[in-house]
Amino acid sequence: MVNVKELQKKLQEIAKMPREEQAKAADMLTEEEIEFIQKQQGASGEKPQCIFCKIAAHEIPAKVVYEDDFIMAFLDINPVNPGHTLVIPKEHYEVLPQVPPDRAALIMNTVRILSGAVFEAVDAQGATIMQNNGAVAGQAVPHVHFHVIPRFEGDKVKIDMKPIKLEEKQFEEIQKKIIEKARTKAEKKVVYDISGKPIEEKKEEKKPESTKKEKLIKIKSRIP
Ligand code: AMP
Ligand code: ZN
Repeated sequence: MVNVKELQKKLQEIAKMPREEQAKAADMLTEEEIEFIQKQQGASGEKPQCIFCKIAAHEIPAKVVYEDDFIMAFLDINPVNPGHTLVIPKEHYEVLPQVPPDRAALIMNTVRILSGAVFEAVDAQGATIMQNNGAVAGQAVPHVHFHVIPRFEGDKVKIDMKPIKLEEKQFEEIQKKIIEKARTKAEKKVVYDISGKPIEEKKEEKKPESTKKEKLIKIKSRIP
């Protein structure tokens, strides 16, 4: 029997390690624990125990407002305003960076359609689109979802963004790092610098395949 608390502790420890050490650290997991994680994630062919997957499969009820082959949208069971809607991919992805580009485009287009539809349906005055990744960001359901929240003058929705202070140097360092990271992830071949000029033809770079263990740890370390 897998001790779930013990396993969570191990995964948290591994997640804190530098990336290079994480592959070695995977040996901290027993075969039984790896099998347990795979079952949880549906990797061994069994369906994951995910509430949004079950809604997508019509196994549990929801107030569905939109559905096509890939996407579903339904009313949030604990709305912060009337019309609060969730848009999900039917396939199970835990956080946004895991969603393939074509699916991401479909999700975003549905968010676009629903933001207009919800706005008109409840006679709103505005809308907030929100998407949380990871427990630290407030993600309670580890299946990618966008919140479409209609807004009204004087409503009780609070998105409390308090600015922090950063030095000019810190801004520049972060900007540089994000540009580099985004460049390796971007689909388009031509990459633009911040002034909008194309700066290079992006080469098709093939990253070494992560091992099964590494993949599991990477995923597991980001979800609640
Ligand atoms: P988040 O905190 O971003 O993960 O948001 C999860 C949202 O899912 C919350 O607003 C919940 O109210 C909503 N939710 C959880 N279970 C259900 C369900 N069975 N049907 C509809 N909405 C749900
Ligand atoms: Zn799911």
